[in-house]
Amino acid sequence: MSYSTLSIDWEDFGQLFGMYHFDEITEPVKGSIERQTDIMLNMLDETNSKATFFILGMLAKYRPQLVKNIAARGHEIGIHGQNHKAMFTLTPDQARKDLKESVDIVSNITGQRIHGYRAPFFSVNETNLYVLEILTDLGLIYDSSIFPKKMPRYGIEGFSDKDALYDLPNGKQIVELPLTIANYFNRTWPVAGGGYIRLMPKMLVNKVFRDFKKQGKDSMIYMHPYEFDTKFISVADNYPPSAGYSKLKVLALNLRWNLFRNSVRGKILDLLKQNQFVTCLQKANYVKENGNGTELLGRKK
Ligand SMILES: [Zn+2]
Repeated sequence: MSYSTLSIDWEDFGQLFGMYHFDEITEPVKGSIERQTDIMLNMLDETNSKATFFILGMLAKYRPQLVKNIAARGHEIGIHGQNHKAMFTLTPDQARKDLKESVDIVSNITGQRIHGYRAPFFSVNETNLYVLEILTDLGLIYDSSIFPKKMPRYGIEGFSDKDALYDLPNGKQIVELPLTIANYFNRTWPVAGGGYIRLMPKMLVNKVFRDFKKQGKDSMIYMHPYEFDTKFISVADNYPPSAGYSKLKVLALNLRWNLFRNSVRGKILDLLKQNQFVTCLQKANYVKENGNGTELLGRKK
């Protein structure tokens, strides 16, 4: 038996765009994140599946009711940090502040304890594993931020791709639920989310997940709300100050975000229908009860 998990890094496209291109955090444009969240929640209801939503604090601040709705529909609420900074660019103190702020804001909204975290850009690597200790200090039991393959901007080469319980230098333990990679042609491939799902033909996506099932391998899928949108994504609609950009630049940006995006809903719906889904917390609890303590970086005790 193998289980899949659908994790959503719940963030607003326009809000992030404004932060990266204009260095300002603004209220999201009304309508986008609402529509995208609805689409996801309806797909999940339709297939009777539960997902984990990693909530970005700076979005939760403006859309608390949406966060409440997601929780009320029975999905797990985790955190995606406060300000969507790559964690390895922060000092340990800044990292702690970002994490604490998001735990506080999100748990205040739902009235429930937070159990897990997904870093922006999978930005936990060999340089900042102390982030895992901070998570345990804040009462979290699992992390799902490590990409077990070195990619240009993230990942740890050779990190175990299995869910496991790790001992930390602070004497506490944490469950790591790494992102999924597939083995084909004697090498590993990123396959399980975002742009990879967008670009792979549906037949290939289905084959990869059928193979996981045959191998008894669990999978962690990660997606973003905008990838489910039924409307054309225009940066000018989602972040109005970008209207000052040249037409050509807006065209190029929009092309990048819309390419094959409409295929995503069908692909994820297929996966939801064909696989057994559990939340990150269900997985983490299972690993805690059944897994052995291991040292950091996957070396067995
Ligand atoms: Zn993100």
